[in-house]
Parts: sequence; C-alpha cells; structure tokens
Amino acid sequence: MTPPGESAPGTPVTADTPLSELTTMRVGGRAREILTATTSDDLVRIASELWARGEDWLLLAGGSNTVVADEGFDGPVLLVRNEGIERLPDPAPGQVRLRVQAGQDWDQLVGLCVDQGWAGIEALSGIPGCAGAAPVQNIGAYGQELSSSLHAVTFLDEDTGEVTRIPAAELGLGYRTSVFKRGRGGVVLSIDLTLSESGAVPSPLSAPVGYAQLADALGVRIGDRVSIKELRRTVLRLRASKGMVLDPEDRDSTSAGSFFTNPIVPEAFARTLPADAPRWSVTPVSDPVSVTPLAELDAGEPMRRVTPQEGPRLVKLSAAWLIERSGIARGYRIPGSRAAISAKHTLAITNQGGATAAEVGQLARFVVQRVQADFGVLLHPEPNLVGIEL
Ligand SMILES: Cc1cc2nc3c(=O)[nH]c(=O)nc-3n(C[C@H](O)[C@H](O)[C@H](O)COP(=O)(O)OP(=O)(O)OC[C@H]3O[C@@H](n4cnc5c(N)ncnc54)[C@H](O)[C@@H]3O)c2cc1C
Repeated sequence: MTPPGESAPGTPVTADTPLSELTTMRVGGRAREILTATTSDDLVRIASELWARGEDWLLLAGGSNTVVADEGFDGPVLLVRNEGIERLPDPAPGQVRLRVQAGQDWDQLVGLCVDQGWAGIEALSGIPGCAGAAPVQNIGAYGQELSSSLHAVTFLDEDTGEVTRIPAAELGLGYRTSVFKRGRGGVVLSIDLTLSESGAVPSPLSAPVGYAQLADALGVRIGDRVSIKELRRTVLRLRASKGMVLDPEDRDSTSAGSFFTNPIVPEAFARTLPADAPRWSVTPVSDPVSVTPLAELDAGEPMRRVTPQEGPRLVKLSAAWLIERSGIARGYRIPGSRAAISAKHTLAITNQGGATAAEVGQLARFVVQRVQADFGVLLHPEPNLVGIEL
C-alpha cells in the first residue's frame, strides 16, 4: 500500500512532481524543471541544450542511488528513460554481446539474460535502477561486479560534446567507483555487455559462485556453478530478507540501498582495530581514504588522507560491523525521527514513512561521527547526495 502523502509508483511525471517521487529513499523537494528523454537522441539533444545554458543540472535515472534535499534542486533534472536491449554479433563462440539503453530497468535485463541462459550478471539480480547508472558505481553484489561483464559504454562527453565509445578498461572501475563517480561529466547513453553461454541443456549454468553466504544458501562451494535460474532465485530471496529488493510492503526497502561504502584502509591501520573486525585484501583503487580520529580533528589536527597507491597493502573493512560495534543497532532511530537504520541490515538508512531528507542526513551524520569517534574511520556515503552535507 502506498503511504499517505506519497504517490503510487508509475504516476506520470509532471513539472510539479517532487523528487521524492522519483527516488527510492522518497525524500526531496521539487526541481525547477523536469525534462524526460525517451531515446538516446533525446538524451544527446536535451543534455547538450542544458550544457549550453551553463547552469547546474541533475541526471536522474531510477533514483535508487540518489538522495535529494528537502529544498529540492534549483535547476533542471534530466530523466533517463530510453529503453531497449539489442543483441549484437557474438564476439566469440559461447559469448553473447548485448547493447542496453541507459534507461533500461536493470533487473528486467538480468531476468531476460537468466531466461536466455546468458551468464555474467545473475548475482546482480534485484539491484534497482537503470543500466546506464550501473557503471557509475560499478554495481556489485554477492561476489559479482558489473566490471566482469561490461565491454564498453557509449558516452556523451560533457567536455567535448562528442559521443564516444569507451572500453570498460578505460573506465577506472573499482569497488563502487568509476571515472564517472570521480567526476567525469556526461551521459552514458548505452552499455555493451559480454555474457557467456554455458550451453548446458536444459539448465544453463551461472558464472562461478563468488560469495560465501550465497554458496552456503545454495549448498555449494565457492567457485562452483549452479543452475542460473536457481542462482537468481536464491539471490532474490537473500536480498529480500535484508530489505534489499524494492517492495512497497517493506519499509526497510525504502532506502538508497547501502548508505555507506565499506572503507578501504591501509593494512597497518586495520591492525589497530579489534581482531574480530572483518577485513578483506583489495587491489589498490585511486580514491583517497580518510583515517583521522574525531578527537584529533577536534583538537585541530588536519584530516589525514591516504592515497592507496602510497600504502603497500590495503584492506576493505565491513562498514556494517563498524556501525554495529559503535553501538548503533538494527532498527535504531534518533528519538522523534522517521529515518531509521534498517531493521534487517545496518548499512541501510531507511525512510520509515514521511521522513525528511534532513532526518536522513541527521542519522547519517550520527553514524559517521560514532564510527569515527570509536574507530578513527571516516565512512563515505555510497549514494549521490544532492544538497545534503554529511
Ligand atoms: C534497495 C536497494 C538495494 C540496492 N542494492 C545495491 C547493490 O546490491 N549493489 C549496488 O551496487 N547498488 C545497490 N543499490 C544502489 C543502486 O540501485 C545502484 O547504484 C543503481 O545502479 C542506481 O541506478 P539508478 O538508475 O537508480 O541511479 P540514479 O540514482 O538515478 O543515479 C545514480 C547516479 O548515477 C548517475 N547516472 C544515472 N544514470 C546515468 C547515465 N545514464 N549516465 C551517467 N550518469 C548517470 C546519476 O546522475 C547519479 O549520480 C541499491 C539500492 C536500493 C534502493
């Protein structure tokens, strides 16, 4: 049921539609203007016109990784609504190449690929949003990332105004990051994927299972392959149990997914944490990380930022573990607030009905401060925050 004060999904977009209706966190005021592109040519034309005006603009697709301030956005919002999936010539025997328009619903695409028996993105089942946003933070879940299947993107470059095809290897894809996330301006018009056909009949096989919890749920070992359909069903079930599939009946899914990324810190710093703090080795990424205890900041010490290339070895920490161990439990909310930590998953900040962006921001800041005070690790938000400062 749609809660009071919120329109049902699918309500036509008008100039007055608040951005809360176009984002899954369901907070955010109005935009000055809303423009909708239903084709790739529309995207190029409208984006070019907006750039010529030289004002701030916002690109919005499924709105599942965007949280907008209560004041809304004082500029034009361009909605990405170009859909379509095209099969290109196969690059090699046993491989399938698809071109997917940016506004295509991601999970519909995964469902279609699973039905066809094309492996490579099945563990990314149930992630909300659109295909064009998938490279922006290199979506990932259950041991799979877009980067393992992405071949190239077709991109309208804000600097040059040109449409180019950029190979995936040049997109700087890493854990929840890409050149787009790091500031390269423009619009992804479509993405090209390379998937594999296992040829197993009648049950095509998934890519190797790459995540312990998923392997346990499937009753197999890491690296095994299973029926691709069974893998999708299992991922959707696991995700639903954590409020990670959009469901109007589940208030814990009124969120932007994980609100914080797992921090990547030097291994030497990780050794200062309690021995039971989960950690995983990672290959270097270029984003700097901040490791300054709040007490030092309060004492006027400058923020210490570590650029990963500088440090010899890096590890990824569990943001959920850090949050829980700093005393913030599932379901926690600041008294009087309608924003809460998900009752199913500490990493998600949820709108429990009628929350404001200010309440979401207040809870996020509280989490950041607690984790920094207790562990000296600065959590970074995963979603794109529009007009909200943490
Ligand atoms: C319940 C839930 C679960 C989630 N689970 C996961 C998960 O498991 N793994 C994961 O990685 N993410 C997850 N997310 C986050 C989110 O779904 C993904 O990041 C998704 O790819 C965002 O797509 P979107 O179309 O909704 O993006 P939007 O929120 O519309 O946009 C996100 C960003 O991408 C930019 N953008 C959008 N389209 C384009 C384009 N065509 N060209 C250039 N830039 C563009 C926007 O300007 C914005 O900066 C989850 C979110 C929710 C709500």
